Amino acid sequence: MIYWDNNATTELKAEVLDAMLPFLKGRYMNPSSGYAQAKSVRTAIEQARQHVASLIGACPGEIIFTSGATESINAAIATMHRLSPDKPLLCLSTDHSAALSALSTISRDAGTEILGNGVNQQGTALLDEWGHHLSSAPAGATFTWGNNETGVIQPADEMVRMAHDRHIPVHVDAVQCLGKIPVNITGIGAEYASFSAHKLHGPKGIGALYVRAGVHFLPFISGGDQEDGRRGGTENTAGIVGFGEAARLALRNLRQNAENMQSRRNRLEQALLSDVPGIRILSSETSRLPNTSSIYFDGCTAQALSLLLEPQGLLCSAGSACKTASPHPSHVLTAMGLSDEEARNCLRFSISELTTNEELETGIRLVIEAVKRVRSVQSSKTGPVTVYQP
Ligand code: PLP
Repeated sequence: MIYWDNNATTELKAEVLDAMLPFLKGRYMNPSSGYAQAKSVRTAIEQARQHVASLIGACPGEIIFTSGATESINAAIATMHRLSPDKPLLCLSTDHSAALSALSTISRDAGTEILGNGVNQQGTALLDEWGHHLSSAPAGATFTWGNNETGVIQPADEMVRMAHDRHIPVHVDAVQCLGKIPVNITGIGAEYASFSAHKLHGPKGIGALYVRAGVHFLPFISGGDQEDGRRGGTENTAGIVGFGEAARLALRNLRQNAENMQSRRNRLEQALLSDVPGIRILSSETSRLPNTSSIYFDGCTAQALSLLLEPQGLLCSAGSACKTASPHPSHVLTAMGLSDEEARNCLRFSISELTTNEELETGIRLVIEAVKRVRSVQSSKTGPVTVYQP
């Protein structure tokens, strides 16, 4: 199998599994219990918190473990809304559905106005518009720093600085950045930021919410005193330990891994550009995550291509995994000015640090063959390739 869908999720590293297993078997004690064995589980949680904090340039006390980035994002946006319920909320039109759905729920329930900031054709936030929206004094702003579909990296420093000039708190969805680019959340200065372990070879169902020291946070999940009273519920101990180990490993090799991914991603794009006519690399003129390539294929739907690639063992996606079942074209690509039809012809390849050169060369060959096959069906007057979906 050649797995090029790492923005959807990543393979659990063997070291991470090894670190987790003792907490599913022998060391299953509730970390809040009073005996020594439980206290050693608590110690492991605090070590993991330290590792995650080091990876994002934060202090351990600023990390709240959650069930994943979706919960973290919902919690941060809910706090900003609850602190100023009568004001609008600001986001980017290309944000992940975790933020967009949270915002539309608030809008539906409370009548809150949602300001959706546009992007240019490369997918970068329009900063003039951002400044304009900020002047209407929203309760808070949120944006996806590294886009999951195109890999576009937003100018986070500038966007946060502009918001802070007007004393507006900011949440940053940094899920896709972790393990791919250096993340110094303290340097960026945002009040809140969301992270997920399963995008950096950690387990699913565990994430983190960063809340800058001294910043207001209203718990989203009430219960016991876990996470310093900020997130109730018995801790997902094995998940937290796995997240910590994934963060430790990511930090150790960050620069080298990023360089390797970028050179492989570039090789993929150059090979396709030279051998496949009628393709376009999206967002190639702006800053992108080193592992992500979203490509427009003239005359081929992403669905037809992936249907041919899957039986050959190459797994990739048209866009966000959360939206695979949706009949609508990607909101990210249409926000960048692509027509619905163009958006349906875009395939996303997202490699990882585990992608090998051999996989890369095989994958390139498979994509070239698949494009030729789809186009030959189209030109044989069989008509456009459509996929029947019951
Ligand atoms: N934000 C972005 C940019 C993502 O890519 C994802 C995952 O698909 C999420 C948020 C949601 O993360 P999780 O699966 O941990 O809830």
